[in-house]
Order: sequence, then structure tokens, then C-alpha cells
Amino acid sequence: MQQDGSIKEILIEHTTEALKPFIETMDFTVSTHCWCGGTLERWSSEFELYLQCTSCGCKSVRFRPAVESLTRFYSSSYWYEYQQVHKCPTIEERYEGDMLDRIPHYINWIRGLRPPPCSVLEIGCGNGRLLFELKQAGYQCTGVEMDESLAALVTDKTGIQVHHGSFPPEAGPNYDLIAVIDVLEHAPGQIDFVQNVKSRLSTSGKALVHCPVLDTLEASIQFRHMYNPLSHLWIHNSGSFVKLWQGVGLSAVKIGELFNMPVYAINKT
Ligand SMILES: [Zn+2]
Repeated sequence: MQQDGSIKEILIEHTTEALKPFIETMDFTVSTHCWCGGTLERWSSEFELYLQCTSCGCKSVRFRPAVESLTRFYSSSYWYEYQQVHKCPTIEERYEGDMLDRIPHYINWIRGLRPPPCSVLEIGCGNGRLLFELKQAGYQCTGVEMDESLAALVTDKTGIQVHHGSFPPEAGPNYDLIAVIDVLEHAPGQIDFVQNVKSRLSTSGKALVHCPVLDTLEASIQFRHMYNPLSHLWIHNSGSFVKLWQGVGLSAVKIGELFNMPVYAINKT
């Protein structure tokens, strides 16, 4: 078993200097198994911080952040600084920018799956822009967000209920449509996550999922920025993505593509 000190040395060696302060505040363990139960092996010298599942081919981070480290990481200051390190737009900039490039596409897909009026839950709703636009379109909207202050901000700004956490309270209602956008890759427990999504779907409920899905080493090199060893814990391929949802009795069907990554509808089978 590698000592935590040497894990951090390896992480620092293979990531940018800018990530060093984040790595130093986090605890890690060595990943040994895939979410599917398969063993993990070295993948490519291009990706020293990721392993490949011998069974489903899904990529896993080589060193998994501890749950407490992740909770701290997604609190506002850490996440905000981290996004800036990666030259991502700020929450405020994204609120405007999202409307230009992604929101109209997501709304079209959602309308196609479940036209309004019906209830929508967005997991990891971030700045809340999608929910705000869906509310304008006649949907009954709820969000969840790991960052407590952002959750409160979105509720203030939009009047939409945003729960703090990774899922709404268990006793809550089920939803006709659940949007999971840029979230699945962050979830430490992949099976727990999809089971949770399933348990919140209404009888004829569907989910819309968008996340990195990469099938070849060449594609992975092209979209190298998706391999983000502190927050993107899993990178699926088409096969492992479908297998994950099938494992809990749901089917995944590709319905489109955005930013070179597939968009899936998740259906009860
Ligand atoms: Zn696997």
C-alpha cells in the first residue's frame, strides 16, 4: 500500500503546479477496483493518473480522494478557485454564457423526452440557469447543489427550491425528468448514484445525462482536459456507460451530441 505522502508526490509530479495547493489539503487512497467490480490496470503512459478496468474498460482515477476531502473540495471557495485554475468562466459569467451555447440544446432534448407541464430535478444545478429557463417554459423545477452558498444564491435569484447536497431528501417526491449534466464523472460511487437517480424517477420518468464518454486512446488524448484527476473520478466509454445504467434496470439511449460528447436519455425498461 502506498503511503499518502508518496501518493501526493505522484499526483504533483503528473499534474500542474497550480493544483499543488489542492492536493496538499486532500486525502487519497489507491484505487483497486472499478465500480463494476473489475480489477484496474495501468492504461497508458499518456495518463499516469488513470487506470483502466480490465472488465468494462472504464477509466478510474489511480488515487481516489477521500469523501471528506471531496465534500470540502466542492464547498464554494475550493471549487471556485479550482475552476479559476482551470480557466473556467466564473459562476456569473457562465450564467450568461450558458444560454448561448448549451441551454437551448438541453431544453430541446428535455422537451422531446417530457414536454411541460411536469416536474424536473437537476442534480448539480450550478448557477441554476437551466432550471430558470425550464421554469419559464412551464416546468415545475427543483435543484440540488453540493455548494451550500450557491444553492442559496440560486433559490434567492430564481425562486426555485435548491437543496444543499448530492440528492434531495429521501422522503421527497419523485420526478418526471432528472437532468444529470457534467455530474456523473464526479460521483465516487457510480452504482449508488444511478440507483439514487432511479429511485427518484416517477413511474414514467426519464433522465437526461451528459458527461465525458471517450472510446479510444486517441479521443482521450484529443480531449485530455476531461481527465482531471481531482474531480473527474470516472471516465466512461460507450459500453461502460450503458452497462452502468443497465445494472440497475435502466436503459441508456444516445439521443444527440454536444461539445463532442454524447447525450443520453435514460429510460425505465
Ligand atoms: Zn469496470
